[in-house]
This record gives sequence, structure tokens and C-alpha cells, in this order.
Amino acid sequence: MTERLCLVHYHEIGLKGKNRSTFENQLVTNLHRALRPFPVSSIARISGHIAVETEDRRATEELAAAIRRVPGVARVSLAYKCGLDEGEYCAAAVRALGEAGDFATFKVHARRSSTTYERHSLEMNRIVGAALCEAFPEKKVDVHTPDVTVIVHVVQGSTFVYAASAPGVGGLPVGTAGKVVTLLSSGFDSPVATWMVGRRGATCVPVHFSGRPMTSDTSEWLCQDLVDALAPAGVVGRLYVVPFGERQREISLAVPQSLRIIMYRRVMLQVAERIARLEGAKALVTGESLGQVASQTLDNIAAVNEAVTMPVLRPLIGSDKQEIIARAHSIGTYDICCQTAPDCCTLFMPRRPETHARIADVLEAWESFDHAAMVDELVDHGGVVEALPRPPRPSRRPRTRGPARGARGTRARAAGALRTRGTAPPRATGRARPATGPPRGPSSSTWTARWRRRGSTPCPRAPGPTTRSSPPAGSPRAPTPRA
Ligand code: ATP
Ligand code: MG
Repeated sequence: MTERLCLVHYHEIGLKGKNRSTFENQLVTNLHRALRPFPVSSIARISGHIAVETEDRRATEELAAAIRRVPGVARVSLAYKCGLDEGEYCAAAVRALGEAGDFATFKVHARRSSTTYERHSLEMNRIVGAALCEAFPEKKVDVHTPDVTVIVHVVQGSTFVYAASAPGVGGLPVGTAGKVVTLLSSGFDSPVATWMVGRRGATCVPVHFSGRPMTSDTSEWLCQDLVDALAPAGVVGRLYVVPFGERQREISLAVPQSLRIIMYRRVMLQVAERIARLEGAKALVTGESLGQVASQTLDNIAAVNEAVTMPVLRPLIGSDKQEIIARAHSIGTYDICCQTAPDCCTLFMPRRPETHARIADVLEAWESFDHAAMVDELVDHGGVVEALPRPPRPSRRPRTRGPARGARGTRARAAGALRTRGTAPPRATGRARPATGPPRGPSSSTWTARWRRRGSTPCPRAPGPTTRSSPPAGSPRAPTPRA
């Protein structure tokens, strides 16, 4: 009986020598996770490939498309699997070539991985070639540069036959390169950066700094939508949300206006580094691109980097915005990022940010507020966004940025619900006030008044964490990737 299955090809992991089986096993595990929505009956390694079979023995193009999104997959072929009978595999070859689209020339490439099969591969080439010439008399054989190659592969008592294959995302299976913490905003860059390190085999734990309680929680929803969009590729774990608005207000009161962004970023990196240590991650990832905005000059990147000891990976550092947007389209994050939402980046922004910060000024500003206590507090009370069965609505609907309306976010929200847990840090009581300078930013009550005047209310302050949201030191969370 002839069945239809997906044959997964990988090339880079084929080069990994003695580690090869580790890489292949990880890819099989990742495929199991990514293909949960499909009626898959088996995913098995066969002679340099992975065969994905379905319960009804009829793999579809949708299944092949889902497989192509998984890092580590170089190509996917919708193949026929049949027995060792000549008539069966010749018929399968005719069907495979018939589905190959427009072509003028073809050739047959037969292989035997089991030498117990009595026919030599040259003999198989001849037999299958004769059947194809008879079925397609107007097409020509070209053994050097054919338009289509029909593969006939005998392995483990079966024959796999296919003529076409479509490229996958390539890279390495997620989980083979360790874990990283990625700083995820709802802009275009950081989801692409996350996907890029994920495609190189890293498991990504996303951390989002929201503007709550000074802004609504909309950016948190968008980030959860981004995590959902990246989930089929298997690159992301669960999302950490750190409400940062109150702390930004404190920083803005304490440091020179032009250095605020650098201070925010230093605190964000230190919090991310602490989460990375709890998670067992070995690097941080941002979506920065050289010169894109004021905070991304070489001087400012150096001033921010100085706050942490962990390596900070910036996979987009040499990318143009157009390249990033093209990638956002292909990985399915573009529509979500078109929806704008206030997050911590939109709060307390200086009129003239420093573009070439001097490290001495940065360190002086850094010492002017109790940054260590701030980081401790943010880590202890940072929250986790969890999936729940019923979707509550976000407190404010996001606005659309750019031409494309973000339908995807709405759909994702309807499909899986969210709740933030223990996301608001308790009010800082008894902590030292900023040591230098007069207050330069609005007070908390002024902010509340501004929100009211705009006909909106700030997100209500949660009563404080009810559950411990960060794991105790020394007991990292359970593995983060989820379906
Ligand atoms: P855009 O895509 O529009 O540039 P952005 O979020 O990338 O938006 P940037 O100012 O370029 O904004 O931020 C640089 C990097 O800093 C981001 O790519 C991201 O890694 C990190 N970052 C910025 N804001 C946040 C945030 N609110 N939470 C977590 N990480 C953030
Ligand atoms: Mg950016």
C-alpha cells in the first residue's frame, strides 16, 4: 500500500560528527512539540532523514508547512512510501513527477540504504526511468541539469519516492545551543532577534518590561501574542513581565534627563541577567541595530553593556529596518507589531537623549539612585504571564501602527487567554529617595490626573504578588518551552 508522508531533510546537523544523534533526537522532540495540532502517528529517524507519518497515512501540505517552520529543518518533501515491489514504486514515481509542476527535463536518482535489496541502484534508475518515459512521452531525460529529480530511496524494507521539496527555515534544532534571555518589546526588532537566536538552536526566555502602573497592560498582551506567534517554531519559553513604570519614575527623578534611557536600559539588563541566572541561561539578547535610535550608538551600547557581565547578543546589529520588517512578515510577527501600545519605552522620555554618553557621567548617574535595591525588588516581584482557558479583554485596545491592521493579535487573543500574576511590585516604602537634584518628572498623582484628563485610567495596582512568581534561588524553573 502506498502512503503519503513528510520526509524531513537537514544538512547542517548532519555535519555535527559524534553529536549528530543528539541533534537529530532534539529535532525529533521539537517536531513532536510543533506538530501537536496534527494527527501525527510517528516521527522517526530513517537513514539521514526524519519521516513524519499521519494516522490516516495522508500527509498534507499544511503539515509540511508546519514542519518547515521548525529550526533545524532544511527541506521537506511530501513523499510516497511503498514496499519493495517495482510496480509500486514505479507508480509512485509517476505520481510524484506528475505533481512536480512545470518542467521539461527530469532524471531518476535511486539509492539503497539497505544492501539486502536485490536490485542495484543503476538497475532501479533504468526501471523507474523507463516507466516515467512511458508516462511522460513529451518530457526529456537530462542526467546533468534536469529540471526535476525523482528520488527513489530504498531503506529498511520500504521505498520512499519524491520529486519536489520546499525549503525550511534551516539553522539548528532549538535546545541544542543552551538557553538565552531575550528582551522582548512589542516593536518589530526584538521578536525578530528572538527568532534569529532561536533558529541557531537557543531556547529563548522572553522578558518584557511594561510601563505599568503608569500605562495600561496592552504591551503585555501584545508580547504574549508575539510569544504565541513564535511558539510553533518552538523557540520561546514562557513570558516574564516586569512592571517598570514606577521605577522609571524614580529614575527620572534622580538622574540627568539626557541619561535616563541609558539608566532604564542598565536596570533592564541587570534584571534580565538575574532572570537569566535563575533560568540557567547563558546570554542576553536584544533587538538593537547600530545607529537605529539614540540609545543604539556605539558609546551608548558600551555604557549599557557595562552594567552586566553576561554576554549580550545583538543579532540585528547590522540589519536595516527593511530587512527586519521583511523577516517579521515571514515569521508572522509583523501584524502584531503594527499595533502600538505604550510600554516602558514611551514613559518619561527625555527631550534630548544623550547619543555619546561618557562612561564617567554614566557611572555618576548610576550611583545617584539605589539601583541594587531597585533590581532586587523588580526581580522578586516580576510576574509571569500565563495562558488560561478564558480570554479577558485587555484594559485598552492597541492602536494600529502602519498600514496593516493587526488581525492576528485579536485572533491569538481569542484562541488563548492570558492573565498576569503578581505583576505589580509593592510600593517602595522606606527606601532612600533619590540622592541628587530636585524632582524633574511628574509625581505619581500628576500622572494619574493626566490619565484621567485623557479619559483613561492607569492600570489598577495589583494588591501585591499572591504567588511567588520568581523561583527561589538555586531552584530554576521547570523547562520553559511550551507548546
Ligand atoms: P522598534 O522595533 O520599533 O525599534 P524596540 O522595542 O526595538 O522597537 P528600541 O528602542 O529599538 O525599541 O529598543 C532596543 C531593544 O531594547 C529592543 O529590541 C529590545 O530588545 C529592548 N527593549 C526595548 N524596550 C523593551 C521593553 N519594554 N521590554 C523589553 N525589552 C525592551
Ligand atoms: Mg529597535
